Amino acid sequence: MLTCSACACQSLHRLWRIWANLQSPLPYGNLSKFSGLVVPEVRQVECRKFAALLTESSGFGLITRQNCEKSAVKIILEEFFVRHLLLAAGCVLGVMAFAPAADEPKPFIRVNLDTSEVPELETWGKEAQELIVEWYPRMVNLLGSENYQPAREMGLKFRNSKEGVAHTIKDQITVSSQWVKDHPEDVGLVIHEMVHVIQAYPPRSGPGWITEGVADYLRYAVYEGRPLSWFPSSADPKGFTKGYNMTAGFFLWLENGPAPGIVAKLNAHMRQGTYKESLFEEAGGKPLLDLWQDYLSHRRQMRSR
Ligand SMILES: [Zn+2]
Repeated sequence: MLTCSACACQSLHRLWRIWANLQSPLPYGNLSKFSGLVVPEVRQVECRKFAALLTESSGFGLITRQNCEKSAVKIILEEFFVRHLLLAAGCVLGVMAFAPAADEPKPFIRVNLDTSEVPELETWGKEAQELIVEWYPRMVNLLGSENYQPAREMGLKFRNSKEGVAHTIKDQITVSSQWVKDHPEDVGLVIHEMVHVIQAYPPRSGPGWITEGVADYLRYAVYEGRPLSWFPSSADPKGFTKGYNMTAGFFLWLENGPAPGIVAKLNAHMRQGTYKESLFEEAGGKPLLDLWQDYLSHRRQMRSR
């Protein structure tokens, strides 16, 4: 966990996460080698200074609200700004050295778009295609594992259908036309499906709720940057098995609290067919059921504040 050297707040961890996710993966190699996506070199940074540095180097009006006492360096960022300011901040901090891209690099992934069944969705499809090209390498970085070779080509097909939302089989994403027509704002669904391509879990690799929880964690917590309060919770003692955004909120809490790096770890074991429930205890210090109870009490405390 990356904590502030002045007040021990954990806001830096969140900043680092945003930073890590907005960079092109190529200069990083494989981020997953860093536990919890934190590099030791920046452990000694004070949250105030880090936030100030980001503000200064942006020049675009980054909005910061700093309160070093209550672990609330709140940064509201727009991705466009972040990308620029963090390039600068990265150099200053010496975490890494990379040159701003002068030429457009060749896309890491080729996305074969097929809207032939529903030509009226071509514009939406092209935007989704661009979103994948941009975010696929970042997500690959977050979900690396030993000997993993990410797919370099995938299909994105729009099916003329009134049923379902979307599904993914191997490297082929299929999206249902009616869903997109009814929910044109739901472009994040392709991030969820794209994560399934990256996961590449073999059959019977582990519980489905982890597969769907990881996909929604990367969609909602990483891509959309939703706060913990946005995620649903359930008093069910096994509520984490509901998958999707229910599990994703639990993962977000684990990542920012007792088990940084848990998502990358679960992913690696699912992919290698070595998943076991005790991974939660190894990473979080308590059995899964107890961690869930801690999570629920944290959510109750948040609501009563
Ligand atoms: Zn899914």
